[in-house]
Amino acid sequence: MTDDRAAALKKIADEVATCTRCPLYKGTTNPVPGTGNPHAEIMFIGEGPGYYEDQQGLPFVGRSGDYLTYLLKLINLEREQVFITNVVKHRPPNNRDPQPDEIMACKVFLERQIAIIQPAVIVTLGRFSMARYFPNGKISQIHGQPKYTGEPVTAYYPLFHPAAVLRNPDLRRTMEADVRRLPEVVAEVNRRRNSSNAPDGQKPASDDDLPMQQLRLF
Ligand code: URA
Repeated sequence: MTDDRAAALKKIADEVATCTRCPLYKGTTNPVPGTGNPHAEIMFIGEGPGYYEDQQGLPFVGRSGDYLTYLLKLINLEREQVFITNVVKHRPPNNRDPQPDEIMACKVFLERQIAIIQPAVIVTLGRFSMARYFPNGKISQIHGQPKYTGEPVTAYYPLFHPAAVLRNPDLRRTMEADVRRLPEVVAEVNRRRNSSNAPDGQKPASDDDLPMQQLRLF
């Protein structure tokens, strides 16, 4: 049986491979559209491909990627069970930060990937993906705090970037504790999605606007 989601993601990957919407494609070895399970409950969004990612055409395969793989194992997940991508799909020269116009040009691909997969949880890794969902957020204050919003309800879950943790091992415990809470966040989204399919009388009021403190009581 063909998987419509896999086919739709492949189409995006093909478009990324010939994309000239911004200059980043110039001088790269491979496009890095993203990889993983088309039915993933968790989607990780990083910043942009680095050297090894550009060589292999796969996201998070260098040192940060090894650490991400380790983090997934803490919650009994393999990389193949999640979807991993970046805000820009070609490597910025010398690993510089992606520029706002490059992120904007690439946004269409990321949005289509999200619409196809409809993950329960979008994990942001690093400031560029975090800024999309938490425009004024400071990672030191908001890491590990899910924001539940949208239709279908989705949790946005900001984490430190794995490279930042590798540079600053003091962050390891915090990072790993945040990751260990991910299954709870997935379960909470599934609970909310199921109850929003309930007949009208049984639907809970939307709590998008409830303060985080109250959300944590659920
Ligand atoms: N860092 C990122 O943000 N993305 C990658 O794919 C690799 C390293």
